[in-house]
Amino acid sequence: MSLSCSNIKTPDNNGDLHFLHHTPHQWREGPTEAIGYAPKEETVFLSGGLTLLQDKLIEAALNSLGTTFTALPNPDFKAFQTGKAFGNRGQCNPTYFTVGNLVRYLQHLRDEKGLSTEEIIRKYIYITAGGCGPCRFGMYITEYKKALADAGFEGFRITSFDHEKGIFQGDEIEEQMLDYTPTFFITLAKAVVIGDIINMLGYKIRPYEVEKGTTDAALAQCRAIVANAFLKHTSLIAAMWQCRKVLSAVKLDRLQVKPKVMVMGEFWAAMTEGDGNYNLYRFLEAEGAECIPQPIINRLMLSLWEAEQSNLKQQHLPGENRPAVDFSSLKSRLLIKAGKAAVKTHFTLYAKTIGLHDYDVPDIDKLAELAKAYYTLECSGGEGHLEVAHLIEAVKHNLAHLVISVKPFGCMPSSAVSDGVQSLVTARYPQANFLSIETSGEGAANFYSRVQMALFKAKQAAKEEFEAIRKDENIPAKVNNYLYQPTNDKIGTAAALLQSISVLK
Ligand code: SF4
Repeated sequence: MSLSCSNIKTPDNNGDLHFLHHTPHQWREGPTEAIGYAPKEETVFLSGGLTLLQDKLIEAALNSLGTTFTALPNPDFKAFQTGKAFGNRGQCNPTYFTVGNLVRYLQHLRDEKGLSTEEIIRKYIYITAGGCGPCRFGMYITEYKKALADAGFEGFRITSFDHEKGIFQGDEIEEQMLDYTPTFFITLAKAVVIGDIINMLGYKIRPYEVEKGTTDAALAQCRAIVANAFLKHTSLIAAMWQCRKVLSAVKLDRLQVKPKVMVMGEFWAAMTEGDGNYNLYRFLEAEGAECIPQPIINRLMLSLWEAEQSNLKQQHLPGENRPAVDFSSLKSRLLIKAGKAAVKTHFTLYAKTIGLHDYDVPDIDKLAELAKAYYTLECSGGEGHLEVAHLIEAVKHNLAHLVISVKPFGCMPSSAVSDGVQSLVTARYPQANFLSIETSGEGAANFYSRVQMALFKAKQAAKEEFEAIRKDENIPAKVNNYLYQPTNDKIGTAAALLQSISVLK
């Protein structure tokens, strides 16, 4: 042993094996002593973990309903480390990032804002989606409670709604701190839908901006306009029309050749815009790509589809006393249909107003049809059959030069099931440029280098596609307006624009 090593003094409690002689005790979720929680009017609701824009719009939307609601900051690497420090082993990244983010926020309230731990526990409450599931998703809430107790916030409240039930869960919720009424879910859905639409436009516009930073500045303005409309209960349609003007002012050069990269995979890893996926979207844009994100409504539509399928299956279960017409199941089916129609109507209305013309709400039945030869549709959990369907759709309909499926390390539905199936899909569609990639919280260098390798092939494909089109001397000014969104058999934006002009002549 070197001199420097032998001089190291271990702390007194290093290697403390005191637990060896202690009787193991049963873990309990509830606090050991009764806590006098603050009444609803004094309670502050916390949540977060969607895209940056959606978190802020949800904050405004829920505050407009009279609750005091705060969106947590975007989870970063420090949040991940905190989550790992207080969480159980073997959880998936989204748990570590989101649990750690909550713990850090409470520590910030205590250590920097000067609130006592008792006050934080009494007054604050965290809202999250819960539910059971074939994967670790079913354990999230217990994981939050365990980490919070170990971090010194035992008794901190977590309230959840079942992500599979959406607006239909009202009566079964015991905790009434938040009224999970249809109004709550409709307002929430509007914020999510509008956030999806503005995010998708942002990803279409930013890669082609002439002056760096102008798209982000315009998006920040749109966020303020829509948040204000929620808070003041004014027309969201009028707000979207105002946003259209703001986005139109961003100067673009859309004839730059850029590969289109579809990003999909496990819901949280694919959607987050930060350290949770090593800032994948910003990395791809910096490397010269245009991203196609999967909007959150995809997940919402999948949940509605799963609810519909399970309802249909229950109806055909054998049962002697089954009535000729089961009205409860009929009612559920009608509610699901109404939910689907409402999401589609609102999406179309807002999208057309702001000028997103080339995206339709996904038809999960059609996607299921694409996937069913490869993926057992009854197999739910994670994104179910959607990952497989997205890849087939991208190849069949020429949607992207590269499809990246991103997932947390060891994600059961995404890594273990979907990626296994994708090897058969890529064997049958050898033209697919597909990269499946895991995030582990660490290991960014390996992640980036694999993305760069796949991107190289995508750039070549985008270049060849563009060069094969006859160039025209007179390019009309409208090609640089984001509102012009022609659809044809070309993948890249520049190639599709050129192609549309030559067809017009
Ligand atoms: S889908 Fe994957 S990452 Fe998400 S909770 Fe399940 S196992 Fe974890």
